[in-house]
Amino acid sequence: MSYGPWGFKIIYKPGYCADCGEPEAKVIYYGLPHHMCLQCDPPLLTGFWSRLTAHLPFSGWMMVYKGSYWRALWRWVSGA
Ligand SMILES: [Zn+2]
Repeated sequence: MSYGPWGFKIIYKPGYCADCGEPEAKVIYYGLPHHMCLQCDPPLLTGFWSRLTAHLPFSGWMMVYKGSYWRALWRWVSGA
């Protein structure tokens, strides 16, 4: 857990888990970009869209990707 200059706890640092501070993996879930900490158990799903998708039933489709979201989305959609 990290702290800001005035001792405030940093709740969310993009790309890093708010819980354990490890770098997060980028995942596509429901076709939307998310971050996920694979070090936490259960894996912690974060990112803007997780506010929505965390409340949906697990779709069974989740893809870890690196690099560009759009390129990864195209691969996911086209099945390449
Ligand atoms: Zn974590």
